[in-house]
Amino acid sequence: MARKTLKFVNVGKRMPEKRSAEMRRRDFDEIYARFDPDKASEQAGRCSQCGVPFCQVHCPVHNNIPDWLMLTAEGRLEEAYEVSQATNNFPEICGRICPQDRLCEGNCVIEQAGHGTVTIGAVESYITETAWEQGWVKPAKPRRELEAEVGIIGAGPAGLAAAEQLRRKGYQVHVYDRYDRIGGLMIYGIPNFKLEKYVVERRARLLYDAGVHFHLNFEVGRDATLEELREKHDAVLIATGVYKARDVKVPGVGLRNVFPALDYLVTSNRKGLGDDVPRFEDGTLNAEGKHVAVIGGGDTAMDCVRTAVRQGAKSVKCLYRRNRQNMPGSQREVANAEEEGVEFVWLSAPQAFLGDEAVSAVRAARVHLGVPDATGRQTPQIVKGSDYEIEADMVIKALGFDPEDLPTLFDCPALETTRWGTVKMDFRTMMTSLDGVFAAGDIARGASLVVWAIRDGRDAAEQIDGYIKAKAQGAGAGEAPAHAVAAE
Ligand SMILES: Cc1cc2nc3c(=O)[nH]c(=O)nc-3n(C[C@H](O)[C@H](O)[C@H](O)COP(=O)(O)OP(=O)(O)OC[C@H]3O[C@@H](n4cnc5c(N)ncnc54)[C@H](O)[C@@H]3O)c2cc1C
Ligand code: SF4
Repeated sequence: MARKTLKFVNVGKRMPEKRSAEMRRRDFDEIYARFDPDKASEQAGRCSQCGVPFCQVHCPVHNNIPDWLMLTAEGRLEEAYEVSQATNNFPEICGRICPQDRLCEGNCVIEQAGHGTVTIGAVESYITETAWEQGWVKPAKPRRELEAEVGIIGAGPAGLAAAEQLRRKGYQVHVYDRYDRIGGLMIYGIPNFKLEKYVVERRARLLYDAGVHFHLNFEVGRDATLEELREKHDAVLIATGVYKARDVKVPGVGLRNVFPALDYLVTSNRKGLGDDVPRFEDGTLNAEGKHVAVIGGGDTAMDCVRTAVRQGAKSVKCLYRRNRQNMPGSQREVANAEEEGVEFVWLSAPQAFLGDEAVSAVRAARVHLGVPDATGRQTPQIVKGSDYEIEADMVIKALGFDPEDLPTLFDCPALETTRWGTVKMDFRTMMTSLDGVFAAGDIARGASLVVWAIRDGRDAAEQIDGYIKAKAQGAGAGEAPAHAVAAE
């Protein structure tokens, strides 16, 4: 067979078709179409099949990218899917929402050589979407059932990846979540235009079918203490994410119509899911007809500005204290937001929110970027006398998230945390200061990415398996091991 890869010299980079900005502004549907089979094969065939694939090195789950690209180029999609799903529980989700420009695609050798990266994320989504259509995606069915039980707190990507891996090994898995739906920020934080909800809901059903037990509307700290879960299960995984919104300390921050980003996004996502959402219906958290100012420059800020555009805001401005090159959000998302009509006000820091009862304007100051700090980023310095005002009758604060105080919430002072408030764990074993209690995802590493949460969940599942097995062996002769085989 003629070689199907190494085509990057003659074949240019093509992304799947993107809907026009005008169309995108009118709905919350995803903005990229899917590759058709020929395009997927052609684009996968651009891979140079490097001996040391830097894309794989920089992918947090170390996906075997060159192999599934080669198989896609050759039209061997079922095999491509098998390879792809072997390292990633939710490849079609990562293909859609990973910041590929910072991970796999940003390190693609042909990108570095100036040919334009292989469109790895789009091919990854294509493979798994095809697998869903063809019925190749199957619930995890263990070869044998074990009696040992694992309790997982949090049904976000970290908790769900761990649940699937543990179920594959035969454990009885119980997932507790304070929300009424499965998915964590994938369902209530990330908007539809990046990740449509059916993609997450389909995964949730698969986990139910695999026999994972979900306990929704169950808040650990309110409905049970951590200690009670420890008594009930052989091991517990904390995967609760980070939800304490950082605030901006300026006069007027308490005015009406100044909101934390997640309140705004959760409301919009619930509305899209068909829930009854009074704070949206009465206009409080609806940007329609308003001048909206979003403070921040990360992915959450990008999601807020683009949601406001779709809700019919009169104008949407994003104020960020650094410049475009120094912003944490994905450059691809900034470009999408600009196309959709968002105005970026770089090098601007809010000094006050103005208004009587409700906010009517933001007073901002110009910023000069000074010498780099310890992290290498230039420090923002306010330019004296540079204040100016921006009209705004809705302000959204998107300044990032910190961990909640879990030892207090869980009524468990023995659970140690780091100075950043994340749960402290041994990086080799992923075990916290409490025997048999593990941690994964944002609550362990700080606000991060879905793909890192998946990686953590998978690693934690391995560690929990090792812990339960070791404990069972330690139970000694004569005693029934904790994970005695219940069924073959
Ligand atoms: C607006 C927004 C946009 C983002 N966009 C992207 C993106 O484009 N790409 C990307 O890779 N990442 C993105 N992220 C980051 C990504 O969503 C997170 O890194 C990821 O979801 C973390 O996974 P997790 O499982 O650790 O936590 P979460 O997804 O936060 O899930 C934690 C779960 O724990 C539950 N929980 C919390 N406390 C309790 C309790 N006491 N009892 C029971 N349950 C509890 C919560 O209800 C939640 O369901 C975004 C984040 C936000 C906020
Ligand atoms: S999981 Fe993310 S980083 Fe890894 S190959 Fe897929 S898109 Fe790239």
